[in-house]
Amino acid sequence: MRDFLLAEQDRAFRAEVRDVLRRELLPRASAIEDGDDWDAIKAVVRALGEAGYLKLMFADLYRGALAKPGLTHATLLSEEAAYINYAFETTIATALSCAYPLHRHATAPIREHYLPDIVEGRMVGAICVTEPDAGSDTSRMQTKIEFDAARREYVIRGLKRYISNAGVADVYIVYGVTDPSAPPGKGLSAVVVPGGTPGLTFPRRYTFMGRRGCVVGEVAFDRCRVPADHLLGDENSGGRIMVGMFNFERIILGGSGLGVARSAFDIAQAHAQTREAFGEKIGCKQLVWSQIADMSCRLDATELLTYRAAKLYDSGVAGKNLMKPAAMAKLVATETATYCADRTVQILGGDGITKEFGRAEQIYRDARALPIVGGTSEMAKYLIAVADLPSIKLNL
Ligand SMILES: Cc1cc2nc3c(=O)[nH]c(=O)nc-3n(C[C@H](O)[C@H](O)[C@H](O)COP(=O)(O)OP(=O)(O)OC[C@H]3O[C@@H](n4cnc5c(N)ncnc54)[C@H](O)[C@@H]3O)c2cc1C
Repeated sequence: MRDFLLAEQDRAFRAEVRDVLRRELLPRASAIEDGDDWDAIKAVVRALGEAGYLKLMFADLYRGALAKPGLTHATLLSEEAAYINYAFETTIATALSCAYPLHRHATAPIREHYLPDIVEGRMVGAICVTEPDAGSDTSRMQTKIEFDAARREYVIRGLKRYISNAGVADVYIVYGVTDPSAPPGKGLSAVVVPGGTPGLTFPRRYTFMGRRGCVVGEVAFDRCRVPADHLLGDENSGGRIMVGMFNFERIILGGSGLGVARSAFDIAQAHAQTREAFGEKIGCKQLVWSQIADMSCRLDATELLTYRAAKLYDSGVAGKNLMKPAAMAKLVATETATYCADRTVQILGGDGITKEFGRAEQIYRDARALPIVGGTSEMAKYLIAVADLPSIKLNL
């Protein structure tokens, strides 16, 4: 049953968001996919910001009709956007991932300087964690953030890769090592680096199999300097800030996976009921309806896990207590997205792998990133199993 965990107001919000996205995103979706059109993405971010949808997680800033806005609603936005175009949705996820640490951990002047522009869709941000030698294993991070006491500035040196919005963002939230003597993974801090800071360059932009329109590349920091008040939280508290960000990002990604999976399923469902072979609709064949049933079960499991995690977050569950439910939502949703995309292509036959007969091939290409971004499926399983096997140390 759709929307089983949602309240009446949440369902009304879904309907409202769907209308806005049909008006703002749908007409631009082919420019994003076929034309790699970043301006089209930016225009939709702006429209969503103006509609108040990028403030959903910040009750003190939100001025819309919802009595209690929260991650449940941000996840609904993510799901509905990903249903139309997953590439665009990643921009929402990144905007929220930037806004979150700024809202919680920035000094007042920095918060005032960047947060309103990000949540109103006028500015775009980027989150810089991943490096050439530090992907899943963030404890291998090499980027250095050093304090120059004489000038009261932080100096950043290092190279980040696979950074969404690299080169097009107005502001970069950068994680690096402030205490090299701390054990691996400790001693990290996060600083805000404005776009245009001297020493900030973008050596490479990647070409991906899917997610056209997204800009993802390298970000290099060659002794970039920012004033001391650009530090987020306290020095060496970056690990904790990162955990908070990943928890909610994984739930938003649950919404993305669900939206992508639903968009594939709807295509398969329609095709199975119209395409004929061997004297009947292909949906009459057991090998086909069995795949439909499998997709349907996984979709419901995804929806329940995703909105359970979002509702837990909205009820105040945080930190370590949220890790397992958030990881479960991310794991099941993103694997369901690739499963449904793959089965839909199969059910469509040749139509599934051509551009001429609809979006199945695009969804298949787009979906493949989901079990990798925001922490891989293997890392999500680790977080789940750590909670389930508390008396032993799992081998990472
Ligand atoms: C399109 C895209 C956008 C991205 N955007 C951003 C962004 O905006 N900001 C950012 O910081 N990063 C971003 N990333 C990076 C992303 O978070 C990383 O790609 C991801 O965390 C995996 O890291 P990696 O690619 O280095 O793979 P690796 O960590 O090298 O992993 C390779 C494989 O080994 C597996 N593996 C690793 N360790 C173990 C283990 N202990 N046990 C079992 N399996 C293991 C992994 O699960 C994976 O299958 C983005 C990536 C992509 C593809």
